[in-house]
Amino acid sequence: MIKFLDLQNINAKYAAELKQVAAEVIDSGWFLMGERLSSFENKLAQYTGAKHAIGVANGLDALRLILKAYIDLGIMKEGDEVIVPANTYIASVLAITDNRLVPVLVEPKNASFNLDIDLIESHITPKTKAIMVVHLYGQVIWSEQLTALAQKHNLKIIEDNAQAIGAEWNGIKTGNLGDAAGFSFYPGKNLGALGDAGAVTTNDDVLAKHIRALGNYGSNKKYVNEFQGLNSRLDELQAGFLEVKLKYIDAENQYRRHLAAKYLNGIQNPKIALPVPENTGLATENNKEHVWHLFVIRCSERDQLQEYLTANGVQTLIHYPIPPNKQLAYKEMNGLDYAITNAIHNEVLSLPISPVTTEEEVERIISILNAYSN
Ligand SMILES: *Cc1c(COP(=O)(O)O)cnc(C)c1O
Repeated sequence: MIKFLDLQNINAKYAAELKQVAAEVIDSGWFLMGERLSSFENKLAQYTGAKHAIGVANGLDALRLILKAYIDLGIMKEGDEVIVPANTYIASVLAITDNRLVPVLVEPKNASFNLDIDLIESHITPKTKAIMVVHLYGQVIWSEQLTALAQKHNLKIIEDNAQAIGAEWNGIKTGNLGDAAGFSFYPGKNLGALGDAGAVTTNDDVLAKHIRALGNYGSNKKYVNEFQGLNSRLDELQAGFLEVKLKYIDAENQYRRHLAAKYLNGIQNPKIALPVPENTGLATENNKEHVWHLFVIRCSERDQLQEYLTANGVQTLIHYPIPPNKQLAYKEMNGLDYAITNAIHNEVLSLPISPVTTEEEVERIISILNAYSN
């Protein structure tokens, strides 16, 4: 069986360094808010180019804390609207509703799966305060038109960068494009911890200071609580692990681009639609706008194709089977209908792509797909 994601193998490559970190942290007796956290935060800030990086407990918290801080700072208030792509993972939407803000879902583009920037303006109302862009499947969603729109309507742009660490737009890394960004280091993400972890990046000094306090009980000084905060900290072990793995992220992302190019050149089956990178002017391996967190194909007989791949020894997943507005958790949105989003959720299938997926495996998957006729 070709595994979709072999986390054991992915981390085995770095086992010696990771075990060294674990031993040092255990011996130090210092587990939270220590040197490893500051060191990783500095490295992440340097890597993205953003002025501040703040480690938090997970990716959902990163997004929740950004919005909570904007509310505390008087930039948004309960009932305000945040634009978000309709086909995102539910965490983007949960961060909005958890803060009693209102998600306004906007359709993606059919070919790239990313938010259709042309559709944003018609959804802007006097209550709109932010656009949460999601660099979905690892591909940057950004344009000059987007920043002009945000400027014109005085909106914050928040990046959900859970899936696209290392991607670039015009030489600027994701996480340093908008007003603030949330990262997830969930084990399966391109930069994965060995447990839950996340971060916020921003160039905004006031926002950074506030988020840092909010994630630590609303406190800048022990037992002095200025705000009603949460407990959302990135521990020393995970920070140490992430610092090790951050050194290898560019090489791993480049290998993902190599595998993606192989899939794009090799899969030729009229029943299967391939992902279309937004910036088609560049060859895939040189296209820094994509880090291929997922390689997502489409097929109108998706479930049959998935069964066929399973029968042929290829494990696949669906990202995602049900859009947020069709989830029971959002009954109030169940009546909304988004044609493009619905079609995407019915037709997408994610193929294996990871730092330990081999070229031979990709070649085998390509021939299996090309032989699919139903
Ligand atoms: C993974 C993910 C999140 C949430 O990250 P966690 O670390 O699991 O909380 C948010 N948004 C997107 C798009 C994601 O893929």
